[in-house]
Amino acid sequence: MVDGMRTATDPGADAPVSPPPATPAPGARRASLSPSRAADFMQCPLLYRFRVVDRLPEAPSAAAVRGTVVHAVLERLFDLPPEQRTAPAARGMVAAQWEALREREPDVAALFPDGDPAPLQEWLLSAEALLERYFQLEDPRRLEPAGREVRVEALLDDGLVLRGIVDRLDVAPSGDLRVVDYKTGKAPSQLFEAKALFQMRFYALVLWRLKGVVPRQLQLVYLGSGDVLRYTPDEAELLATERKVKALWAAIERATAAGDWRPSPGKLCKWCDHQVRCPAFGGTPPPLPEGAVPLPVEPVAPAAPDDVRPG
Ligand code: SF4
Repeated sequence: MVDGMRTATDPGADAPVSPPPATPAPGARRASLSPSRAADFMQCPLLYRFRVVDRLPEAPSAAAVRGTVVHAVLERLFDLPPEQRTAPAARGMVAAQWEALREREPDVAALFPDGDPAPLQEWLLSAEALLERYFQLEDPRRLEPAGREVRVEALLDDGLVLRGIVDRLDVAPSGDLRVVDYKTGKAPSQLFEAKALFQMRFYALVLWRLKGVVPRQLQLVYLGSGDVLRYTPDEAELLATERKVKALWAAIERATAAGDWRPSPGKLCKWCDHQVRCPAFGGTPPPLPEGAVPLPVEPVAPAAPDDVRPG
């Protein structure tokens, strides 16, 4: 952990390293890629199709929803004055954040059907336990994040927009950036470490292109196991990430043009909601929906070079 981080609005708001491409016409839409969707395509092109092209719903899991609640508490914890950022205060926010989520997304209530309150209580306690562990890893009274749930996006020189949401962004008095991501699972096996690292390098690349500064540190906080993993990226590594992202995008465009979304079965299939319609498991994909948007595109809203804002 880098202590002494403080609120800072923009210590390194230089122009982007690459000259920005011509601004698209207002109202136009342009291709964009997030680390999650990039990871989907790397894992399995057919999974990408089901999520991005077909936009098929997936059942919320108790673990994923717990992660949403824990992230919401960790975001709001920093609304409190430093001396009030305690473990009891965090635990006390869990039930309210669950209720708020249930109002926003009523489907999550199906995880705990009416009748027996015990499973919900146990689940809420498990979220509190994760937050309790957070306090063993960091002291939020000594931190003043520059941003929480920060939306970041950067336009690459080939017109592709990279976007994502960073859990927490810290800025040191020296101007050094630290990108922090909370994971409610355990520290990764090699299988997942590459995925987590790719996500962090992706964010670092976006911030570098946006701010002209390579983040000093990428920090993954694993609340499930109480581990903190730290990485120090460098320009060569981020250039390699950029090449990888561009190659990935080219592969997505080729798959889109050919309508060729192949299944790529692997260990992660056991967590896939779409086995029933996957040829690798004896299923048949549905026809592509009429008018489907084959690539993730967003309305044009060019970000200013220093458009890193607290969420
Ligand atoms: S079950 Fe496996 S191979 Fe099939 S779509 Fe899901 S991730 Fe891909």
